[in-house]
Amino acid sequence: MKVAVLPGDGIGPEVTREAVRVIEALDLGISLQEAPVGGAAYKAHGHPLPSATLDIARDSDGILFGAVGDPDCDALERHLRPEQAILGLRKELTLFANLRPAKVFKGLEDHSALRPEVASAIDLLIVRELNGDVYFGEKGFRTAPDGSREGYDIMSYSESEVRRIAHVAFRAAQGRGKRLCSVDKANVLETSQLWRDVVIETAADYPDVTLTHMYVDNAAMQLVRNPGQFDVVVTGNLFGDILSDQASMCVGSIGMLASASLGERQTAHGTFGLYEPIHGSAPDIAGKGFANPMATILSAAMLLRHSLGKSAEADRIETAVGKALEDGVLGRDLGGSAGTTEIGDAVLERL
Ligand code: ATP
Ligand code: MG
Repeated sequence: MKVAVLPGDGIGPEVTREAVRVIEALDLGISLQEAPVGGAAYKAHGHPLPSATLDIARDSDGILFGAVGDPDCDALERHLRPEQAILGLRKELTLFANLRPAKVFKGLEDHSALRPEVASAIDLLIVRELNGDVYFGEKGFRTAPDGSREGYDIMSYSESEVRRIAHVAFRAAQGRGKRLCSVDKANVLETSQLWRDVVIETAADYPDVTLTHMYVDNAAMQLVRNPGQFDVVVTGNLFGDILSDQASMCVGSIGMLASASLGERQTAHGTFGLYEPIHGSAPDIAGKGFANPMATILSAAMLLRHSLGKSAEADRIETAVGKALEDGVLGRDLGGSAGTTEIGDAVLERL
């Protein structure tokens, strides 16, 4: 099993180091290959995503990614900026499914934007399509019939695009609470009607999963009113962009949230993917030793579960993180004082 480790910029290397320690402690015989990415790669090799880094990523079973973003690179041309590295990886490796789990760990209920008793019921996974929708359709400006300027963005989804994300979502639901809610706007949009048809068709392959449908406006309301009703939510790129940020605020700190971006390629033990914390490089706190590494450690757990077929070990990591929190090991983002290495140590002790 090969894992590419791309620490990146800012707090990326600090938080990635702790996640690597956790993977190594499990002693699974995983070979870790580190490579530069983002501003660090630009400074060393003149490009944010050097071909050697891309090769290591492509050759791996899964990628652990820190963060990219470097104020020193602000003046560079767009294609040389650090952020292009993550966009390039997603595109080059066809990572079309973004998975964002949202769960309130015990003891963190007060950090949610919701009432503690509502927040504590949250344990959901948003599966967002990443490669289609209105972001990639034809777009531009033109003149409207009344002579005024008009902007347009074509929203489109093909059956195959919907089918591949639906399979990811159904498989994720099989590994969790076996309930899948598909979110669309089928009362208004043709793309959504197609989306719904294809999701229903795909459901035939997963008789053990209960499928429901919800319009996106209602889903936005239900996420705040009664988020405990959701297990896995699958939705398109635009709706997913909005709902996944909304869901992340329902559970609290940016330093706690992991994500996976999956493709179609199967590895020996799962699906190839890229795993990263949802936070960025946070240059304001880089090098100070108090970035919370838990989001990256939880991303490593997702890597073990989805790409390496090591669900039991992933559970162990998540349980250890939960225990550390219950024991009051809190980073500054959660109002505590534990530093990066201290949090890593605390998780390792409880593995
Ligand atoms: P980027 O441009 O790379 O996205 P950013 O400046 O937007 O970086 P983020 O990483 O998105 O910064 O985070 C926003 C703020 O949240 C940061 O200023 C930082 O103080 C805080 N933060 C982010 N991640 C963590 C973390 N892991 N631990 C503690 N605080 C964090
Ligand atoms: Mg940011």
